[in-house]
This record gives sequence, structure tokens and C-alpha cells, in this order.
Amino acid sequence: MPKELQAGILYYAEEYGASAHLCACGCGSKIRTPIDEMEWSLEEDTDGPSLYPSIGNWQKPCRSHYIINQGEVIWCEQWTDEEVKQGRHFCHERRLAHLSRKYSKKKRHAFWEWLRRVVS
Ligand SMILES: [Zn+2]
Repeated sequence: MPKELQAGILYYAEEYGASAHLCACGCGSKIRTPIDEMEWSLEEDTDGPSLYPSIGNWQKPCRSHYIINQGEVIWCEQWTDEEVKQGRHFCHERRLAHLSRKYSKKKRHAFWEWLRRVVS
């Protein structure tokens, strides 16, 4: 992964199963999402990358919660501390259709470029 990440780009180093991006809220936090069966899955199509399940940045001051779906950011509701503890902190794929309807108005216009290979 490069040391300096650029906003709006989802970095993916296939050989390492590692993915990273800057928090979609613009706070500048570096978010790492390991790509494997137990963690996140990454799909690519002509509209852009999709990352499942959602990204919940509970450890960061902004506490952002969003899904990257076909190159767009769909904002999810923020969970309370209690909900995070209960492990209810992911928007699962089956909820995505519902969410994208509910949150489509809040969609960011940011276009997520897709960097398949990152030379370290
Ligand atoms: Zn943030």
C-alpha cells in the first residue's frame, strides 16, 4: 500500500488480499479492509468497485458507516456504542437493496476509482 492514500480511491493489492481507502466522510482516516472470506468481499464491475459488508469506522472520531456499492458511497445509520458491542454493526448484503433506496438521496457524488494493483 502506498503511504499516502488519495481520497476517492479504493486501493487493492490482490497478492496481499489487502484493501485500503480514506474514510468517505473526508476526515482523512485510513481505513483498511482485508479482503478474504472472513472479512470483506470485493467485486468489480464497469460502474466501479463494491465492498461488502459495510464499513463502520467505530474506532475513528467520525464514526462513519457506509457501503461502497458500484463505485458509490451509500451512507448507513450510525450505531450507538451499545449496538456496536452487540455486533450489529454491519449492513449486510441482504439489506442493501433496502438501504440503497432509503439512502439514495444521501449518496455522495464522489467517484471511486479502482486501483487493482498497488506497487508497494
Ligand atoms: Zn471519517
